[in-house]
Amino acid sequence: MTTTTAFAPRVRTEIPGPRSRQIQKTRAQEVSASVGAAIPVYIASASGSVLTDVDGNEFIDFGSGIGVLTLGHVNPAAVAAAIAQTRKFTHTLFTITPYESYVEVCRLLNAMAPGSFEKRSVLSSTGAEAIENAVKIARAATGRNGVAVVDHAYHGRTNMTLGMNYQYAPYATGAGPRPGEIYRTNNSYPYRDGLTGPEAARRAIERLEVTAGAENLACLVVEPIQGEGGVIVPADGFLPALQEWCNRHGIVIIADEIQVGLGRTGTLFASEHFDFEPDLVVTAKAIAGGFPVSAVTGRAPIMDAMITGGLSGTFSGNPVGCAAAVEILGQLQQAGTLERARAVGERIHDGLLALKDDFPIIGDVRGLGGLHGIEFVHEDGSPNPVAFGRMLSLVAERGLIALPGGDHHHVLRMLPAITISDELIDEALHILREALGAL
Ligand SMILES: *Cc1c(COP(=O)(O)O)cnc(C)c1O
Repeated sequence: MTTTTAFAPRVRTEIPGPRSRQIQKTRAQEVSASVGAAIPVYIASASGSVLTDVDGNEFIDFGSGIGVLTLGHVNPAAVAAAIAQTRKFTHTLFTITPYESYVEVCRLLNAMAPGSFEKRSVLSSTGAEAIENAVKIARAATGRNGVAVVDHAYHGRTNMTLGMNYQYAPYATGAGPRPGEIYRTNNSYPYRDGLTGPEAARRAIERLEVTAGAENLACLVVEPIQGEGGVIVPADGFLPALQEWCNRHGIVIIADEIQVGLGRTGTLFASEHFDFEPDLVVTAKAIAGGFPVSAVTGRAPIMDAMITGGLSGTFSGNPVGCAAAVEILGQLQQAGTLERARAVGERIHDGLLALKDDFPIIGDVRGLGGLHGIEFVHEDGSPNPVAFGRMLSLVAERGLIALPGGDHHHVLRMLPAITISDELIDEALHILREALGAL
């Protein structure tokens, strides 16, 4: 394994550096210990696809704050729009004295979301809040209570979404009883289940028919590609079969596109890769370039089902966030943006396949556009969280930020900005190769 590099080293201190360690010490005294810290380098500034920490170390950002900075850190137009709005007003409350940018964000989302039917949107602040809204809307529209979710799903950290997550720990540990009327079924995980999409859908549907009963279900919530679950791309045909079954039984089918939507995978919505047309689609993370805005978008009659006043909250559709969101959604529709995401995806995918050929500890590589995962395995194919855990530090020490994924934290998850340069992709692939060599 060669250790020479064509790239200037980005990391100047041990990781975390002295100043980060100092802040980390204060943090231990001041911040709840229940808040995690995967890579405790404290960030001083960011630009494009590079983070700079308080010790002057630079990192190629293959995390994007979990897929938030899809169009890069400090996106100039989005930041300019947010600053201009901040000088005008920072809050009024849309349900008291409204403003136009909220309406414009909804108009853009309605036009962009999958499906040619008439749509409406509602804005909120966080992804979990938007998922809760989607569930409430589906219950109001159907008069039913049951909520179906699939294995390996992640939907948030509020009380309702704790019940929808596949993993109990750490999200629900000690947090009391999880809410009821939530029914879990199988996902499609081609690397592990070996099923075709229709076979996986049949298995999932049969389980729901037995454990819930189609007539009791208000909605089925699915991530078109599962993020936290380990970048799990379903087999073709899985999502359309679930959609067909939901349509037939009056179950609202909801796509959680919080992580994978809005250009991340090379299409505006990941659902488009799979001929999947959900009734409702939930967005959040990337919508406003780092400002907290989230949304539910979908079929008008369903979206109008709750009584007036049933949705929204104090900060829902904050005007500074909406100003940034109008810019971000506009850029996503500009010529070349999605093409670049696909080119980024191909370059990363080819690079990862080459690594897989050379390192048998890699069981699978998968993903699309700016979303990829490397699944680490033991010789018998079982998940290998130890290798993954070392990899996260090994790449950070070399100047690359990546994310954990998978139930066992055994998938290295990568979500670079789709505006990242070829040079930074190649450097990141080089760091991955060096780290795998050191492993
Ligand atoms: C992040 C995420 C959520 C929760 O969003 P928050 O803004 O953290 O509440 C829900 N679903 C998916 C798929 C996510 O990636």
